[in-house]
Amino acid sequence: MKILVPVKRVVDYNVKVRVKSDGSAVDIANVKMSMNPFDEIAVEEAVRLKEKGVATEVIAVSCGVIQCQETLRTAMAIGADRAILVECADELQPLAVAKLLKALMDKEQPGLLILGKQAIDDDCNQTGQMLAALAGLPQATFASKIEVIDENGQKVAHVTREVDGGLETLAIGLPAIVTTDLRLNEPRYVTLPNIMKAKKKPLENVKPTDLGVDITPRLKTLKVSEPPKRSAGIKVPDVATLVDKLKNEAKVI
Ligand code: AMP
Repeated sequence: MKILVPVKRVVDYNVKVRVKSDGSAVDIANVKMSMNPFDEIAVEEAVRLKEKGVATEVIAVSCGVIQCQETLRTAMAIGADRAILVECADELQPLAVAKLLKALMDKEQPGLLILGKQAIDDDCNQTGQMLAALAGLPQATFASKIEVIDENGQKVAHVTREVDGGLETLAIGLPAIVTTDLRLNEPRYVTLPNIMKAKKKPLENVKPTDLGVDITPRLKTLKVSEPPKRSAGIKVPDVATLVDKLKNEAKVI
């Protein structure tokens, strides 16, 4: 069974993003970019399933600019066997990514797709769900545990999800779409020998037109703005003044 893992190149989670002066977007010039953290968890899980003998091949896919190759090399250093870059300089919205992934699924016929639950740049939380709808496949989102078992000759994934006040476990027949939550696993450190090995693994480059997919954006960003600046605090001489201010000025007690 093949596992396809879509990985997105995003602004590194340690970077404090800045909005462009015209309010059109976030400024990503000269900013450190990394693999979306939820996608790292997805690659790790796919590699663990291969190590357990459940999967035979792990394929990482990224859609975007040529630099996404670096993200794919990282996925291969974690343990993915090969990678596909859908190269495109234009902005890709979740629906376009879902259509590109659907086209790749038709070609590769994976038994399982593991995506991140959301990309930390756009916070959309849409791609996995849209892909499941486009492909007509079952989905289990926000997975904190994945087990693949054989049920009467049919492969089934038992996916545990953290829900309010407990855990929910779903059984979904494969092929299926799963999206990862933070507690699914702790991705391994990428070692130097594995980075070297990853350089030799196959990386295919295709264009959206090769896959016959229309990637025209459907949404228009009207404005991007920074959160309001926090105003400076004040020092109060004693508890009585604090209580008085909370009661009469802030009116919170
Ligand atoms: P989103 O719906 O944008 O929050 O993204 C959810 C997940 O979809 C991500 O964690 C990735 O697994 C996948 N994804 C989104 N955009 C891309 C992309 N450009 N290339 C590869 N995978 C993507």
